[in-house]
Parts: sequence; structure tokens; C-alpha cells
Amino acid sequence: MDEILQKRVLMIPAPFEGHLPSMMNLASFLSSKGFAITIVRTQYNFYDISADFPGINFFTIDDGLTESDMSSLGLLDFILELNSLCEPLLKEFLTHKDDVDFIIHDEFVYFPRQVAQDLNLPKMVFSASSAATSISRCMLMENQDKWLLHGEEARSKLEELVPKFHPFRYKDLPVTAYGSMERLMLLYRNVSKRDTSSGIIHNSSNCLENLFTSAAEDTWGVPVYLVGPLHMTDSATTCPSLFEEERNCNNLNCLRWLDKQGKNSVIYISMGSLAMTQKEEFVEMAMGLVQSNQPFLWVIRPGSITGQNSLDSLPEQFSQTVTHGDKAFVVSWAPQKEVLRHRAVGGFWNHCGWNSCLESISSGVPMICRPYSGDQRVNTRLMTHVWQTAFEVEGELDRKIVETSVRKLMVGDESKKMRKRATELKKLVEDSVSIGGSSYGALMSLVDSIMSS
Ligand code: UDP
Repeated sequence: MDEILQKRVLMIPAPFEGHLPSMMNLASFLSSKGFAITIVRTQYNFYDISADFPGINFFTIDDGLTESDMSSLGLLDFILELNSLCEPLLKEFLTHKDDVDFIIHDEFVYFPRQVAQDLNLPKMVFSASSAATSISRCMLMENQDKWLLHGEEARSKLEELVPKFHPFRYKDLPVTAYGSMERLMLLYRNVSKRDTSSGIIHNSSNCLENLFTSAAEDTWGVPVYLVGPLHMTDSATTCPSLFEEERNCNNLNCLRWLDKQGKNSVIYISMGSLAMTQKEEFVEMAMGLVQSNQPFLWVIRPGSITGQNSLDSLPEQFSQTVTHGDKAFVVSWAPQKEVLRHRAVGGFWNHCGWNSCLESISSGVPMICRPYSGDQRVNTRLMTHVWQTAFEVEGELDRKIVETSVRKLMVGDESKKMRKRATELKKLVEDSVSIGGSSYGALMSLVDSIMSS
């Protein structure tokens, strides 16, 4: 611990796999700087992680929501409901607690905003996404009519660049696979309302997003701190998965399997914690991977294939490859950061979730992007067009497209060029989190700002 500063910070993460770990890394950093941290968690998606974070206090509010509420409401309405239920519960908690100096909340759990205002507490918003994503939500709100067009007119408009937001095209803006445009706009309006916050913290780095940092500050009129990738900071701690089957699965075997593979030879395939795949597409993926003749490590989450509960009905050739060969390994959850850092992993097929993008960048691994929903389109454009360490596979998949794409990523001239750029980008983010780097500086400015609030 550097020095005892003793400002008391209440931090409220969103209860999702792609959000909790990055906020916990920020909490660990602030704790290492002497702040007294209390994490307020929801009962929904709860797993006790306190043993992994000694020195940090935890409190749970009983929102009463369950997995079946999530299934029946859908993700968008679920988040809206979670926020309305939690606001009075947080107010009640804080009314009896007079030892909070500052609040940091995830942008998707915006319920502390009104409570903090009522209690006159300063606060900041934490975004587990990029600054470009935050701006893109505002751009989508301004341009939603483009998605209400149909046919050829819509298609040509969606290919156009969004004015004052280059290099993004309308089709790169973050529409959702989880609900209606109307509900999405309602959620984005809530998420993007930041006028009473004294700053916005992004798990991103200026070396990745220098094109958008000042635009973000202009949009919200408050300082924007790009402090990431937070999993690379010295104080970062691995946060256990929120899913029981993923905590219990014997996924370390896949690291031993990787040990036996050649350098940069394996393609790792994972679609994050929420994305779903249609059964037809899944079968084409499976056969394309086999045909590519490239070793692969594939995360197939239970329940992630629409209309299929087990892998029993997969083509025989695929099952044979997985069960009897040493060319393939399938797991239900992988220790992704370790996998990407492994010398055998030379490519990553992914849905372009922001954490996965940061983890691939910090490991210097080029990617195939197959965005599914929301900010994954924005991230895809960043990866493919701005940083050029990836390419996108769009449209309907068949096994031939999969086979050719895998080979393009893993072998040949284009692969070498992408790998070289990925290695250069890795060095840039490593420098940004080191002493003297931009993310390190942003973390220090954040500490000063909380101290002087
Ligand atoms: N993840 C993992 N093992 C897996 C699949 C995913 O550890 O088998 C982690 C991954 O490292 C990342 C997070 O789950 O930190 C997924 O977050 P991301 O933003 O990439 O996607 P989301 O799940 O939010 O769509």
C-alpha cells in the first residue's frame, strides 16, 4: 500500500461476466492506493468473490431477480427492471451509512445516479467498453431512422460513413440482437445521461483511442480517463467466473493440450459469455474448422447453440476429430487470458466483445471478428479498420468460408502482416500501462480527482 488516503469509495459493478472483472481490477488498484473500497453487488448473478479480494468490503442488495426473469424479460428489459428495483434499495442502504465519500458505478447500472444526487455525493461512471462505443450510442440515438428504412435504400445508407464519426459507417453503430429498437433507445438514453458525473472512466487506452478521446470529452463535458487495459495493471486480480459450471470445469487441461502444439499454430474460438449461435451456423463452423486442418481450441458454452442442448448431433467427422485426434480440443469455458498468452495460440475467432478485444491486443494475437450484438460492431470496425489486426467474416457462413477464413488468419502473407501489427499494438498497450504511459497517468489523475472531490 502506497499511503493511507482513506477516502471511502462505493463501487457498483454490473452483474455480468464482461463487466465485473474490469471494475474489480479498478477496485484493486484504488484499494492499493489506500482508498477504502466497498463493492455493492446485486443478488442477481451473485457468486461470493470476497475471498479473492481481501481488504475490500462487499455488500449485496436483494433485487429479487432470477435467471428466469432474465429469460422472460430479455436482456434489455431485464437491465431496465434491475435499475428500477435497485434504486430505492441503494437509497435505503446509503441512508443508514454515513461513511461514503465517492461513488463509481458501471454505466449499465445507472440507479446510483439519482441516489447520489439526492445525498449530494460526487460520482463517476465506469464504462467496461471503449470511448468510441460511448459516442456511438449517442450517434445511434441521433440516427435511428436509418434502421427503420427497408430494402435497397437501407442497405446503401448503412454502408455510408457517419458524419463527424469517421471511420464508422451507419452499420457499425451498436444496434442490438436482444430486443426492440425502442427499448434499446430507452436503455441508451439512461446509460448515456452523464451530466451529473464528475468524470467517465473507460477500460481503454489513449494509444488505442486517441481519435475519440477529445470527442468523448466534448460530448460529456467532463474529464474522460482511459485507464486500461485494467487486467494489465500490477494490482490486477483474476476474478472468478460468475457461472458455476465454468468455475467447476476442468479447463486447465486445455493449457496442457496447448503445450503440445506448435508455436502460433492453434486458432482459439470463443464467443464470450452471452452470444448465441444458430445450430446450422455452428455445424458449418465445426466442419470448416475440421477442413482447415488447423489445430483448434473451441469454447462451446452450455446452451449457447440455439435449439441444441448437447453436441451429440454434430457431424461424425467433427466428433471423431475432437474425440480421437490431437488436432482439436473443446471446452465449455477456457481460462481465456492464459490461453491467448500461450505461445501456441496464433489466432482468435471471436464475437468482438470489448474484453476479448483487449485480451487479444494485449497478447498480440490477430483476430477474425464475427460481431453478434451492440458494441461488438463498433469494436469490429476498430479492430479491422483502425488497428488492422483483424478481419471480419460477414453474412451467412458455410464450411468453405470458415476454412478459407481460418487459413487466411493463420498462414500466408496477410496473416504475417496482421501478426506484425498485433505485436506492435501489444507493445503500445504495454507501454501505456507502465510508469510514464498514458493509462498509468490517467489512473494517477483519477486518484487525484477522487481525492480532491
Ligand atoms: N471468457 C473466459 N473464458 C471463456 C470465454 C470468455 O474467461 O471461455 C471471458 C473473457 O476472457 C472475457 C469475458 O469472458 O474477459 C467476456 O467478455 P467480452 O467483453 O469479451 O464479451 P461478453 O461476454 O461481454 O459478450
